[in-house]
Amino acid sequence: MSVKITGYKTHDIRFPTSLNGDGTDAMNTDCDYSSAYVTLYTSADLVGHGMTFTIGRGNDIVCAAIRELAKRLVGKDVEELFANMGKTWDYLNADSQLRWIGPEKGVIHIAFGAVGNALWDMYARSRKKPLWKLIVDMTPEELVQSTAFRYLSDVITKEEALVMLKAKATTKAEREAKVREIGYPAYITSAGWLGYSDEKVARLTKEAVQAGFNHFKMKVGADREMDLRRGKLIRSIIDDPQYLPTGQQPRDLNAPELAGKNAGPTGSVLMMDANQVWDVPEAIDYVKSLAELKPWFIEEPTAPDDIIGHAAIRKALKPYGIGVATGEHAHNRMVFKQLLQAEAIDVCQIDSCRLAGVSEVLSVSLMAAKFGIPVCPHAGGVGLCEYTIHLSLIDYIVVSGSMERNVLEFANHLHEHFVHPCSISTKGRYNIPDHPDGGYSIEMHKSSIEQYEWPHGSYWVNEHPKLQAQALSQSE
Ligand SMILES: [Mg+2]
Repeated sequence: MSVKITGYKTHDIRFPTSLNGDGTDAMNTDCDYSSAYVTLYTSADLVGHGMTFTIGRGNDIVCAAIRELAKRLVGKDVEELFANMGKTWDYLNADSQLRWIGPEKGVIHIAFGAVGNALWDMYARSRKKPLWKLIVDMTPEELVQSTAFRYLSDVITKEEALVMLKAKATTKAEREAKVREIGYPAYITSAGWLGYSDEKVARLTKEAVQAGFNHFKMKVGADREMDLRRGKLIRSIIDDPQYLPTGQQPRDLNAPELAGKNAGPTGSVLMMDANQVWDVPEAIDYVKSLAELKPWFIEEPTAPDDIIGHAAIRKALKPYGIGVATGEHAHNRMVFKQLLQAEAIDVCQIDSCRLAGVSEVLSVSLMAAKFGIPVCPHAGGVGLCEYTIHLSLIDYIVVSGSMERNVLEFANHLHEHFVHPCSISTKGRYNIPDHPDGGYSIEMHKSSIEQYEWPHGSYWVNEHPKLQAQALSQSE
């Protein structure tokens, strides 16, 4: 009997991360990590969970957009949807009235990310495989069919993608075995949030070195003197062999995974993230003045839509050995296409739910592989680490074939709310999600939803009645 989608439910879930400065940077000073969460129901037991990430106010607006898109799936046969996920993606994108409030950008597009991912989660659950495994087991033809390709043929055609995927297909089993054994490389962001005191940054950095990490990211751009002071503090810890875990030797500075990353004497790498605060000339000037800290790259130096500006910054910083990274606020695959065409980035930071779900991420991964630019997904936010390990595994096993120079962001917050949370090995690498019922790893515990649903969840009612009342009165 055919299984049909029968309904959906959204939840506006907000965590009070602003209370202790988690997630703070030069632009985003009071983040309450939030999830616009959706569950799709079917005529059978099969469900699909998805979400998109926001930082608080406006999460309800995204939930409303999710409901508009999810409506389009009600009554559809799930096997027909799964049989051609590229076509399904086109269908979800094709409501002309909803398209008008994008197109393919803003609230309606991140809502599409939640719904598209929920459908992929359902597909993976229906096959009793984690999402990444569902996709790496596809034939190159099936993978191409699942990808969002519209507007890309000037840079990559389906035929070209097929040739690339076939070239990698013969060795994919070896890569799967390797990454299962050693894990996927990670870097840590949560030691360097702007709102933390120097003492807290020093303590968290030492803990991160002990935990096996060798790539660290700090937030910059609010105050040059503070950035220099804090950067030196972090460098003094990550470059000092005394803080390495017992028995661990400094890494080989000539190893290919460290090439071009400005690694320090222990093989440690520092990255910087400005979260869009500067104009283009200001970005160039400011980052030059931080060059002594030897960062691998500056992330989001300016407005996320300014492709030519990113290219100018990259060109100006090249003599200093500093690269440019961006993508967490890139609206869609066309922005990534242009960032690659304009030679504006050294590192491609796809976002799992700002792009419209897995199908659009696949198209960006293919383009990045064609240009030889490593994909290092954005994951600083609730649920994003859970999602992105799947995307990095797909990139490594069947698309780029490489993980040596890649690092996947890890922020150590809020994983306890997920039924299948991501985890990090003692070597500072992501473990491989492998539960047959784990889907896309984004299902939240019912108790977490009940506690943190805004504004009537038990946490908000009991712990922060004043905050809740204040926010409710502001919204009237
Ligand atoms: Mg960032």
